[in-house]
Amino acid sequence: MADGLSPAACAWVECRDGRIARTGAGDPPRRPDLDLGDMLLLPGLINAHCHLEYTHLRGMLSGRRGFADWIGQINALKRHSSLDDFRGAIRDGFAEAVAHGTTSLVNIEAYPEIVAGIAAPIRTWWAIEGIDIRAPFAFPPLPELPAVSPHAPYTASAALYRRATRIAEATGALFTTHVGESGEEHEMFARASGPLYDLLGRLGRDMSDCGHGGSLGLLLDEGLLPRGSLLVHMNYFCEGEPARCARDGHTVVHCPRSHAFFGHRAFAFDDIRAAGLPVLLATDSLASCRTLSLFDEMREFASRHPHIPADEILGMVTRAPAAALRMTGQIGAITVGARADLIAIPDDGDADPAATALRHRGEVPFVMAAERVIVSRRHKLQA
Ligand SMILES: [Zn+2]
Repeated sequence: MADGLSPAACAWVECRDGRIARTGAGDPPRRPDLDLGDMLLLPGLINAHCHLEYTHLRGMLSGRRGFADWIGQINALKRHSSLDDFRGAIRDGFAEAVAHGTTSLVNIEAYPEIVAGIAAPIRTWWAIEGIDIRAPFAFPPLPELPAVSPHAPYTASAALYRRATRIAEATGALFTTHVGESGEEHEMFARASGPLYDLLGRLGRDMSDCGHGGSLGLLLDEGLLPRGSLLVHMNYFCEGEPARCARDGHTVVHCPRSHAFFGHRAFAFDDIRAAGLPVLLATDSLASCRTLSLFDEMREFASRHPHIPADEILGMVTRAPAAALRMTGQIGAITVGARADLIAIPDDGDADPAATALRHRGEVPFVMAAERVIVSRRHKLQA
């Protein structure tokens, strides 16, 4: 059992010191400490892109009037939020993510000063976000599981990208950035026009990098992405760029419900996959989707790409992000030696456990991570 997804093959799991020590089919070798009954055991899910600090903005923004308008909306709402609001939002976001079966997470963090005061309940990469349109930006000392995130080519300068690249290459920090998210971003860089071009010009951004090609091409041409970057969105790109990204070992992070919220052009999954570029699924923030559930993201993706097998889609929130986070064999799989990050969902009897996972709605009854049971409902604890 390579990925641990078959309930027939994986009837029991023995955990020791936070890791999976043994797995097996049939009857367990001894009386279990925990009997989950007729539930389907899955590896904990991995959300490779979210902004938990916007959890309190759920349902407050509209994507209908375009991307530049949405930026205006979120900036106005952020101005009315205190650091305590963001702290509370992060805590609420963690609770919601865990309740929906997420056990590892990359959180983009625009307010690094609040990270130290928050005890993350699950494995978390705090990706420090850099923006330098109006003022210089310097990365602070990075937390454990270091990550850097120049926000996007329209808000972070080439110099900021270079500094982040140097940090990633020197320390092994994860590097992630938004790129090619909206048609407005593409229009700004390719044609030096459009609402985003106008907005950022008014804010005083140096627009001399516009009018020469798309934003992803700019990052690639200028050498602003270290090998193995997580490229978030990539809804808009130019011909040949997915293959270039694949050669550089990058990974695309697709956020299906945020994509639908803005009404972007169809996500070119087949072209990206054909170029050999891995794709992950993530939630992005509640400023552009309604829940922090990766099950909801998988279902949205499946509805738009019905020809993709369920197991491949489940892999986009388990095996593929584990590889992108350089943790293959440690997370995203139920294998001996892996971290004991386990979740369970009701088993509807489908022979394909991934199909069962794609149908799951709402919270999950069982979550184990960070060497403890975090969520436990509807199971029998043995005396
Ligand atoms: Zn984002």
